Amino acid sequence: MITSKTKKIGILGWPLGHSLSPIMHNAAFKSLHLDYVYIPLPVHPENLAQAVAGLKAMEFTGVNVTIPHKVEIMSYLDEIDFSAQLVGAVNTVVIKDGKTIGYNTDAQGFVQSILSNGIKITEQTAIILGAGGAARAVACGLFQNGIKNIIIGARNLEKAQQFVKLFSTNVDIQAFDWEDSGFQNLLQECDILINSTPIGMSVHDTEVLPIPWETLNPEAAVCDLIYNPSKTQLLLSAEEHGHIAINGLGMLIEQGALAFELWTSEQGPRQIMSEALTEYL
Ligand code: NAP
Repeated sequence: MITSKTKKIGILGWPLGHSLSPIMHNAAFKSLHLDYVYIPLPVHPENLAQAVAGLKAMEFTGVNVTIPHKVEIMSYLDEIDFSAQLVGAVNTVVIKDGKTIGYNTDAQGFVQSILSNGIKITEQTAIILGAGGAARAVACGLFQNGIKNIIIGARNLEKAQQFVKLFSTNVDIQAFDWEDSGFQNLLQECDILINSTPIGMSVHDTEVLPIPWETLNPEAAVCDLIYNPSKTQLLLSAEEHGHIAINGLGMLIEQGALAFELWTSEQGPRQIMSEALTEYL
């Protein structure tokens, strides 16, 4: 039962129709008999500052943050943890002793999800398709875990080049237009291919990612950050060509479990979270 003592967690985003986080977290709280509730909080970008003040006033324990607030919210928080400074975006806020602290669990969530599938990161070459917020978290997670180099392929070369400039000059990262033959040739050196564009979601069903399967290293693992559908066209083609294919559900669960741990100091029940999502999907 929800009472005045129930601890409140939410998710801030706009719009919020697609979020599966309430399903995953409420199942986790229930399974561990924790008196918490997780609430969708659709907040228009114009009202973000007031929303953050409101969370403090109403003594929320924390929130997740999703599109389009992940960067903007950083201006309204009291502290930014190193994990979020690195990625340049916040996906989890903890509110403790009246202070808001921003974290990012997407980077480590992605890393954990591929490590748990037996994919090696150290000294490997990764190719990331897309140059948005999720790509940045993935790249940060891979660099922190010893990747040798990262190649960004995007439809817009200028945006891919801007993306690369966000990284330190000490790391090996290059940007390409993904239609460029130079980029396509590099696929033979790829150990981990990651789609971080929305191509593969049902609203983009007429679009196809430019992957020449005959060029891609046959040993490469293919990852898609999309989890609905559970097998995108990219992952279906990867399986047909004999590649390990990993969808974004593991990342969703891992980033959620890490956020759960920040709020509750209890271990995130990954199996329960996974079952709740799989049943819903
Ligand atoms: P984002 O910041 O909007 O970035 C999207 C990237 O994809 C940009 O580089 C964008 O290029 C490119 N793109 C968008 N539409 C495209 C199209 N039709 N053709 C080619 N490129 C296109 O979004 P994001 O936050 O990075 O999210 C990307 C994907 O990752 C989404 O599908 C999201 O659901 C998924 N995701 C999954 C998880 C998880 O836990 N599994 C977590 C975060 C995100 P332009 O700049 O040229 O538009």
